[in-house]
Amino acid sequence: MNSKNPRLLTPGPLALAEEVKAAMQTDLGSRDVAFRRVTQDIRQWVQDVAHAAPEYSTILMQGSGTFAIEAALTTFLKDTDRVLVCANGVYGETAAKILRRHRLDHAVITRPITEPVSVAEVEARLAADRRITHLYFVHCETTSGILNPLPELLSLARRRGVTSIVDSMSAFGAIEVDAERHPFDILISSGNKCLEAPPGIAFAIVHRALLTPEQTVSRTYTLDLFDQWRGFEETGEWRSTPPTHVAQALRAGLMGLRQETVAGRHARYAAIRDRLITGMRPLGFLPILRPELQTPICVAFRHDGLVPDAVAFADYYRHLRAARLLIYARFHEATRSFRIGCIGRIEPAWVDELVEATRAFAMSRRWSGGSAGLARRAAAAPERRP
Ligand SMILES: *Cc1c(COP(=O)(O)O)cnc(C)c1O
Repeated sequence: MNSKNPRLLTPGPLALAEEVKAAMQTDLGSRDVAFRRVTQDIRQWVQDVAHAAPEYSTILMQGSGTFAIEAALTTFLKDTDRVLVCANGVYGETAAKILRRHRLDHAVITRPITEPVSVAEVEARLAADRRITHLYFVHCETTSGILNPLPELLSLARRRGVTSIVDSMSAFGAIEVDAERHPFDILISSGNKCLEAPPGIAFAIVHRALLTPEQTVSRTYTLDLFDQWRGFEETGEWRSTPPTHVAQALRAGLMGLRQETVAGRHARYAAIRDRLITGMRPLGFLPILRPELQTPICVAFRHDGLVPDAVAFADYYRHLRAARLLIYARFHEATRSFRIGCIGRIEPAWVDELVEATRAFAMSRRWSGGSAGLARRAAAAPERRP
């Protein structure tokens, strides 16, 4: 392990296994048979993870996860369609933003980020608005780490005859997705979350009934998923230059997942999450979610005394950074929370280091004089007043 490597405790990009990084040492030709085989393995193994039988096909797309989301929305939505977007965090909001940019018809159901998407509310909306043709939701909303009710939403979409589009970006590979038990129409994810590969490749697993010229629209060249799919099917090649090294790393990441299994990976991440919450809680850092909604992907913490605002958070972030610990660098103002990732090759000792560094930060804050924050904290805990 490279000793200068920062310890990534972020929900993507992640700390990677040595064998995944080592897989990037080989230079392959993008249209050579060796690379076509890599592409084929990735498409097959992604589909295996989803238990998606031959009636599905997997389409890879260069870029981060958002590229595949924009590609799916612009390829599979016709001008006559209308999407219901469920938003309980920034990623649901991003989908709505993309739809606005492309002037694609949609409605949004917004929930607080600490509450899951309400199946009853979605059902009522679908019943009230017969123009809705598609349902879009996020599997694990990474803003908070909340789990949305995927099986229930998928069966509702089926029952109502609307096409389902799932953003399973941060869940796929660590939270079970089973196309046999809970069929979806389109499911989107990327290599750099729970597949434990570097950023650069995203993908959509699509029901083949949608892969026809009639069911698709070509609004852009590069993000045209149907055209990309035809390329894969006809020649086994990407239309334009693929990230060949990243693809080899993604193949290695998928190999690792096949060995560990989704259940095994879920358990490993859950152990990191539990260690983190157990260590942070006595310091006054509390998860913003109820435990039954908390995935093992990331934890959003809040501490109104010590980290009340973005300025205090920036101090905390810098303090952790000095100890080579990187957490997600943004503060969520509305809920006064920040997130720590539990995914990737995080070693339990890193969590202990993070807790210790957080304790040291709390001590330094208590003893530093003069700030309004100190007065607030002192009022909240007078027995600890220096
Ligand atoms: C990471 C993520 C995305 C995509 O973000 P990128 O920065 O484009 O990779 C989308 N949705 C969710 C839920 C995510 O966690």
